[in-house]
Amino acid sequence: MRIDLHVHSSASDGTDPPAEVMRRAGQAGLDVVALTDHDTLAGHAEAARALPPGLALVAGMELSGRLAGHSVHLLVYGTDPADPDLAAECAEIVEARRSRARRMVERLRELGVAVTWPQVEALAGGGVVGRPHIARAMVAAGAISEPAQAFTPEWIGTGGRAYVSRYALDPVRAIGLVSAAGGVAVLAHPGAASRGWKIPEEAIAHLAAAGLAGLEVFHPDHDAEERSRLGALAARLDLVPTGGSDDHGSLTGHRIGAETCPPQSYERLMALRAGP
Ligand SMILES: [Zn+2]
Ligand SMILES: [Zn+2]
Repeated sequence: MRIDLHVHSSASDGTDPPAEVMRRAGQAGLDVVALTDHDTLAGHAEAARALPPGLALVAGMELSGRLAGHSVHLLVYGTDPADPDLAAECAEIVEARRSRARRMVERLRELGVAVTWPQVEALAGGGVVGRPHIARAMVAAGAISEPAQAFTPEWIGTGGRAYVSRYALDPVRAIGLVSAAGGVAVLAHPGAASRGWKIPEEAIAHLAAAGLAGLEVFHPDHDAEERSRLGALAARLDLVPTGGSDDHGSLTGHRIGAETCPPQSYERLMALRAGP
């Protein structure tokens, strides 16, 4: 069984539409794939329609939160899409992402970068707007030569000259909302300092006590040492060690299936869900 539990589409900041992501998942030889766009389930209907034979789709998303001033991502699986509290929270996050992106575009323009809001919106293609869309607009404007260069103190890296922070969910509250909606929450890339923060073990223990189900151990930004540390931590806190590629299409070099979740972890995780 080859299982990738962390994949993005153009419903958030991936470059490929959900149908294309499913086609690539099939081509990569996956048996199970979870579509985990940022703060939205919007890509699922298209993904479900495009599912190649033999591939199972897990409904997921990657919820953005903040803990002690740092960005924290939770991968959530199996929530009821009709749950009103979780849906309202996601709508609020998506709206906050939009207004914050608009303000970052304004700041960039003040700094002399010729990006526009309609251009950023067009790059998001109706999906959830994120900093990667602004980064792509900056490349188009000739301010930088590749999107990664936007994520520095000079531009829109956290705390950068054109950076604007936004409303973010308290992860403990997020875990409560996810459980109430029948799903399970997994802490995404906890050891990836490049993604904002290497989350301290005490903070992870705090989230585990609040009902966190798993820890993403197998992620491209975790080296061998980090994987063994997180694996041991997951065992100690009775958290399910999961894995996924965090594929964003061409932004990450189409790496779907490059990281996988152990089948026994997948089974444990699915057994913890209350939902369908
Ligand atoms: Zn993330
Ligand atoms: Zn992700």
